[in-house]
Amino acid sequence: AELGARVAVVEAHRLGGTCVNVGCVPKKVMWNTAVHFEFIHDHADYGYEMPDVKFNWRIIKEKRDAYVSRLNEIYQNNLNKGHIETIRGYGTFTSDPEPTVEVGGKKYTAPHILIATGGRPAVPRESEIPGASLGITSDGFFDLEELPRRSVIVGAGYIAVEIAGILSTLGSESSLLIRHDKVLRTFDSMISSNCTQELENVGINIWKNSLVKSVTKSPSGLLEVKVMSSVPGQKPTFGMIKDVDCLLWAIGRDPNTEKLCLDEMGVQIDARGHIIVDEFQNTSRKGIYALGDVCGKALLTPVAIAAGRKLAHRLFEGKKDSKLDYSNIPTVVFSHPPIGTVGLTEEEAISMYGTGNVKIYTTSFIPMYHAVTKRKTKCVMKLVCADREEKVVGLHMQGLGCDEMLQGFAVAIKMGATKADFDNTIAIHPTSAEELVTLR
Ligand SMILES: Cc1cc2nc3c(=O)[nH]c(=O)nc-3n(C[C@H](O)[C@H](O)[C@H](O)COP(=O)(O)OP(=O)(O)OC[C@H]3O[C@@H](n4cnc5c(N)ncnc54)[C@H](O)[C@@H]3O)c2cc1C
Repeated sequence: AELGARVAVVEAHRLGGTCVNVGCVPKKVMWNTAVHFEFIHDHADYGYEMPDVKFNWRIIKEKRDAYVSRLNEIYQNNLNKGHIETIRGYGTFTSDPEPTVEVGGKKYTAPHILIATGGRPAVPRESEIPGASLGITSDGFFDLEELPRRSVIVGAGYIAVEIAGILSTLGSESSLLIRHDKVLRTFDSMISSNCTQELENVGINIWKNSLVKSVTKSPSGLLEVKVMSSVPGQKPTFGMIKDVDCLLWAIGRDPNTEKLCLDEMGVQIDARGHIIVDEFQNTSRKGIYALGDVCGKALLTPVAIAAGRKLAHRLFEGKKDSKLDYSNIPTVVFSHPPIGTVGLTEEEAISMYGTGNVKIYTTSFIPMYHAVTKRKTKCVMKLVCADREEKVVGLHMQGLGCDEMLQGFAVAIKMGATKADFDNTIAIHPTSAEELVTLR
């Protein structure tokens, strides 16, 4: 619309999508809440006399919901200000010869149609895991009216790690069930190992090499989760987690494509249902584009937004080459402490450049914040450098403040900074960030 196009948005639910309603935004509010609680434990070490601290989940839930509602309104106002028509309802493609979308019995057509229908959390089928439907997902997490007393989170990706961290830090006795022996297995191995350790340090009971076999509801209304653990080469063992008031599946997300009638349009999808697009976000049908989570690549809000802007500039401003560069996307995991990562993992760099052409710099230390606290968290950092010039092709870190530390370093890496550029930058003392420019 900013570029002069006449635009309509079709939305079946609340404006803002996953990010605003059941993703980044409410998640970050809950992470902030949990971080608050961690710092409260350190107050005595900093000389503050603390009265008994009581936490009320309902208060923060109400405030969070009100904040999200305000954002919904702001989104609607922005659409109105941009003269963008909001069509409420569920859109599906029709079999008309021209690309056409039907919403509530009314048909709409346009020379350019964008599919950005996102995804939803996956839940195992009842035939695979009896009782699976007794669990909730990240969507249900945001509906919880009370802090669960005992939680079981299934999954090893960032959503599982974040929710387990929030629940445990706020005082829910939490178990995390993972299929292998570490969380975040697609991340750099240093991050994957350190994060697994930090989860255990905050008291999360990690069931490694484990699968849920079944879920039952006891007469008290609480759940019993039967778990099978099997280390390769050994006989499987079975365990039971009883009195669970929150079982949460965080085992991946499925794209919202199956009800769109994409075959009517000749829009191709892959085996998992993600829409297949080229580097310009074109689908297999001319005039229909797709981006964001529904394409299954780099599932992050700023990625979807950036891809949308690039596409708009290509279609409505004549910038033929405008497309999103999907390399060096910075990512933060709001774990405890947070993770920041951008670029290639050590393993990816070695397979791309060869062992002899990759140099790794690492450090591990206790941030100065903890100088006087009994509670300690570690900070680990890694620079992955490639070729003789030691171009920084990857940066990975976990520690206090790493979430806010990453963005600036991501600019440097995107610009092609070398290790020498990092070394030539004067350190800011005393910070954790200075370690990244003083690595030996
Ligand atoms: C718990 C959680 C935490 C997250 N945290 C972060 C984070 O910290 N940082 C980050 O960058 N990303 C985070 N994400 C990911 C982020 O939310 C997504 O990458 C982002 O929302 C994708 O945007 P999208 O526009 O592709 O899809 P969505 O935001 O999912 O939007 C799709 C919209 O399409 C609507 N829709 C679907 N089908 C139809 C239809 N047929 N007709 C009409 N409307 C339809 C849906 O109602 C929805 O509003 C998180 C996700 C989750 C679940």
